[in-house]
Amino acid sequence: VTAGSRAADAAGGPHPTALLAVDVQGTFADDFPGAGLPVPGAGATVERIRDFTVRAGRAPAVVKVVTSQDWHPEHLPGHIAEPGEVPTPAARLFPRHGVAGTPEAELHPRFATPELLSVVTDQVRKGQAAAAFSAFEGTDPSGRTLGALLRSARVARLVVYGWELANCVAATALDGVASGFEVVVVTDLCSVLDPRHERETVAGLAARGVRVVRSEEEALALVWDDGASGASNGGAPAE
Ligand SMILES: [Zn+2]
Repeated sequence: VTAGSRAADAAGGPHPTALLAVDVQGTFADDFPGAGLPVPGAGATVERIRDFTVRAGRAPAVVKVVTSQDWHPEHLPGHIAEPGEVPTPAARLFPRHGVAGTPEAELHPRFATPELLSVVTDQVRKGQAAAAFSAFEGTDPSGRTLGALLRSARVARLVVYGWELANCVAATALDGVASGFEVVVVTDLCSVLDPRHERETVAGLAARGVRVVRSEEEALALVWDDGASGASNGGAPAE
């Protein structure tokens, strides 16, 4: 191993990696008062999602840590049920959720701690004009798309988790594959709106080239294995 290749490893390893926490917002949390579209069990995953993001976010291979948010107008026909309409999530018509500017549209308060925000590099929001399940439809405050900001950091691998597995996490993962990224989904860090959809969703992701790992421990090992030689000194080239 030459000094040059060690430096390259420390600068990002063979798989420059992005973490993407999908829609960890109060509006989807079953423990958030007044949540518009609570996902069963989601609230119980907040701390694990946060701690994973902080620990993995410090790995030398990780060059981007991104959060996404559903960020809707009050009326979004065809996605948010109007008064008198019955929400039917199976047909992708949902109760009112993620309305821009409301407390529930913000990142979950137990997720967005100062420690978490210290590792986040980018935040994208989606769904302003039309329903958007994939975070790849999101943009950052300067209007840059998720794909553009990942490519600008030469990201090769995308680790995806959050809420909710069968809709936004799955759509994001599949868009990631279509965009040429190596995509990993961490299922223990996801929650699912309808448990009947979990098995078919996971099988569908795997069939379409997504690497599905179950536990955050497995995902941490995956992320930290790359460029681990630079881990002890914060990623600077070893002398
Ligand atoms: Zn939505």
